[in-house]
Amino acid sequence: NCILVTGATGFIGAHVVDNLLARGFSVRGATRSSQKGEQMKAARPQYASKLDFVVVEDFTAIGVFDRVMEGIDAVIHVASPFFYDTTNNEEELILPAINGVKSILSASAKPGSKVQRIVMTSSFASVVDVNSNPPPDFTYTAAHWNPLTYEEAVDPVSSSVVAYRGSKKFAELAAWDFIKDQKPQFDLVALCPPMVFGPVVHPVSKLEQLNESNSVLWSVAAGADPLPGARVPAWIDARDLAEAHVQALITPEAGGKRYIPVSPNPFSYELAADIIRAEFEWAEDTVTRNYTAGEKPRASYGVDGETVARELGVKYRPFKEAVVGLIGQVHQTLV
Ligand code: NDP
Repeated sequence: NCILVTGATGFIGAHVVDNLLARGFSVRGATRSSQKGEQMKAARPQYASKLDFVVVEDFTAIGVFDRVMEGIDAVIHVASPFFYDTTNNEEELILPAINGVKSILSASAKPGSKVQRIVMTSSFASVVDVNSNPPPDFTYTAAHWNPLTYEEAVDPVSSSVVAYRGSKKFAELAAWDFIKDQKPQFDLVALCPPMVFGPVVHPVSKLEQLNESNSVLWSVAAGADPLPGARVPAWIDARDLAEAHVQALITPEAGGKRYIPVSPNPFSYELAADIIRAEFEWAEDTVTRNYTAGEKPRASYGVDGETVARELGVKYRPFKEAVVGLIGQVHQTLV
């Protein structure tokens, strides 16, 4: 079976590629950069016959995937713009996210397509209502939707953080609407992870190329003072998230469902600072002491990760493993 992975040369996508290869699947990775595709292949010589890359242009227009679907049995759609340094939120974040979804779903629904399932990486951003102040015993589940409107998301006065949340919500909605309206031959599974951390397996040759979530975590090791504030108190290791994507692909009953893969343990950057200082001698001098110890981060709400553990069979790594994996790797290879 051959699986098309979009965003294959990004942080999460590359972990998904590795999980699929380790299970014996053939993988076609989609990337905007042939060079990154070559680097991914060169780093995995043992999979030379199982891994190929196609260059697919930026998601500014719909139709970019039409010519790469030959022989594809299923799709894991990870690609979507995730950065906050924007000049036009609608053009750089929201429309590409939506167009990416429409492109991949319409290409997969074309006559002759063998695609049976599409798993897409949505986000907890399309679940959480950041303006509500839920009681301490409140737990978000996959039944919740961010109430942000399209008008609020594209409003030029909205920050890129708000626009990114809109990009994920409206991209996911576009996917569910496509299934409802077009009734294609494939079904859909949407995964809504919160913050994702962990070592990288995609090509990163400079610190500036580190993906958004990991670069905030690295900033703690590099001496951010004050520490960054956690926008959501929930996280998952990228390797566990990759496992959730592949389990969602191969578990028949997952079709048509929305899931939140999330570790049961909350996180904070204070807790990350404690871990980094305890694990790395060099960090003694860099990590700020200007905070109250974060050993017991207090989440203001819970997020249901048990459904994914139970229905998709995913086990969650401890926060320390994600932190030590990423920080040790960056310190050794990028600074
Ligand atoms: P990366 O920035 O590492 O990966 C993003 C990927 O999307 C890249 O492979 C990139 O392609 C592709 N991409 C971005 N913009 C475009 C565009 N305009 N046209 C075509 N391709 C594009 O980030 P992550 O791996 O962290 O993010 C992957 C997915 O996970 C995204 O959908 C993101 O919203 C979601 N997510 C991430 C979380 C996190 O904390 N990291 C949390 C929740 C969800 P290329 O490699 O060719 O540059």
